Amino acid sequence: MEGLIMNYPLTTNTILEYGNRVFHHKKIISHLPDGTRHEYRFGDMYKRCKKLANALTQKLGITKGDMVGTFAWNHAPHIELYYGISGIGAVCHTINIRLSSQQTEFIINNSEDKVIFVDATLVSLLEKITTLLETVECYVIINAPKDFTTTLPNTLHYEDLLADQSEDIEWPLLNENDASSMCYTSGTTGLPKGVLYSHRSTFLHASNILSPNAGNYSNRDTILLVVPQFHVMAWGFPYMCLLSGSNMVLPSSNLQPEAIIKILKEEKVTKANGVPTIWLGIYQAMKKDPPNEKLALEEYLVGGSALPKSLIEGFEKDFGIKGVQAWGMTETSPLGTLSRLQPKHEQLSDKGKLEIRAKQGIAFPGVELRIITDDGTLAPTDGKTMGELQIKGAWTVSSYFKTNNHESFTEDGWFKTGDVSTIDEDGYMEIKDRTKDLIKSGGEWISSVALESALMAHPKIKEAAVIAIPDEKWVEKPLASIVLVNNESEILDEELMGFLSRDFVKYQIPKDYIYINEVPKTSVGKFDKKEIRRLFAEGKLT
Ligand code: ADP
Repeated sequence: MEGLIMNYPLTTNTILEYGNRVFHHKKIISHLPDGTRHEYRFGDMYKRCKKLANALTQKLGITKGDMVGTFAWNHAPHIELYYGISGIGAVCHTINIRLSSQQTEFIINNSEDKVIFVDATLVSLLEKITTLLETVECYVIINAPKDFTTTLPNTLHYEDLLADQSEDIEWPLLNENDASSMCYTSGTTGLPKGVLYSHRSTFLHASNILSPNAGNYSNRDTILLVVPQFHVMAWGFPYMCLLSGSNMVLPSSNLQPEAIIKILKEEKVTKANGVPTIWLGIYQAMKKDPPNEKLALEEYLVGGSALPKSLIEGFEKDFGIKGVQAWGMTETSPLGTLSRLQPKHEQLSDKGKLEIRAKQGIAFPGVELRIITDDGTLAPTDGKTMGELQIKGAWTVSSYFKTNNHESFTEDGWFKTGDVSTIDEDGYMEIKDRTKDLIKSGGEWISSVALESALMAHPKIKEAAVIAIPDEKWVEKPLASIVLVNNESEILDEELMGFLSRDFVKYQIPKDYIYINEVPKTSVGKFDKKEIRRLFAEGKLT
């Protein structure tokens, strides 16, 4: 028997309408690529989304199911694109601006983008490949200065496109399972793969991440979105902020630690997100030049790579700012778990509490996790037994765009993450490594994530990335590539081995160290282990 409840579609339009109805007075503040500041209200954004939706249909001929690309920083027009494109049933395809030309060309041709909205400061990246793009009919330039010129064919300016458009629109009736947006994986393991999000998955993901057990976002917050809008829909924050009524602050290309600190101060930001590299940089800059007044910032949410314990401790002790860890993937919308202490943890020592906060956390309602060991059995939830993390849920990918990639899914309908993890009796998941980054030395697994986290707690170390290198006796052994604070040239091998011996047994401790100027990073700022392994193999890691 079916329930007798209305079939109310959970779409991005319902998010937009709600945000306007209830929180039209809340702010969207953009620090634009040219250094200027722009501020308006949710209500203003709402009107412009409707103008955009009309322009897309009437001027650009976009219809339901068409792909519309964005190649842009975090700012107000990009938020308008999220809602305007999906609102008419087209797919908002956010293209990662930091990929190689070949990957960008592949992604645009594979997705069949009809129009691309591109930031004026980024056009040169598309100019190089425009003749290779098979489906793009027109480019719309965002944030263009008056004297702007480009060699891109068929261009329009965003403000001209919106001018003269009506603010009235009857949104089409959409099925909540229709595609709303698309993002490609960052291609750390081969060609990027498209993940097509639905309206329903977007709505459910956004409404779950704001809950007090999760992100704890509300209409009292002003949130800085450091995570790029071209990376997994900025973790769903542009949708979540309209549901929670939080002011949004968008930094566009101002991502240097000093620029972010300035924005945090000026806009009285209370919460923020970002990958650990960003927060490590901000912490070091604040240590060097401490702010005169305590920042309004209460918490920063970290995901994408492990949040080092030393960073959690340092930020909290020195500046009273809490680090909260989440885990996810492009394939999981992205947020799958988040780690917060519960009242029952109050009795634990500071060290015990830190252990829990440094885990990747518990699954959101609507998401299930399991660990499958090497021999194919279900691991017990004992916090010790390692295996591959598998996930299913209301916002987990069911298959890749245009690809029958069966090896990523199990026969009983779980997505294989490629992460090696444990889950404890309370459901807290902990990432030990990615399958391909694990180090197996003398038949024993060594977690590179745990070693990196421990090394980065050393006061002289800025960054540490650990990879497996071949060894005659042990088959593999760990190698630590180290960046010292202020890039000093000091050999610390003995000191580091002693330092690690507090937390690791002998066979786990690297005996090999390389001191480098910078750890190579991926397009989204994670340590690029594939590149480190390549440089090492070619003898170039010095
Ligand atoms: P890519 O797979 O191309 O790196 P994603 O951004 O989808 O792109 O990365 C997802 C991966 O990032 C996860 O499978 C996991 O290995 C890693 N990851 C994400 N969050 C965390 C976290 N909090 N701690 C450790 N690793 C994480």
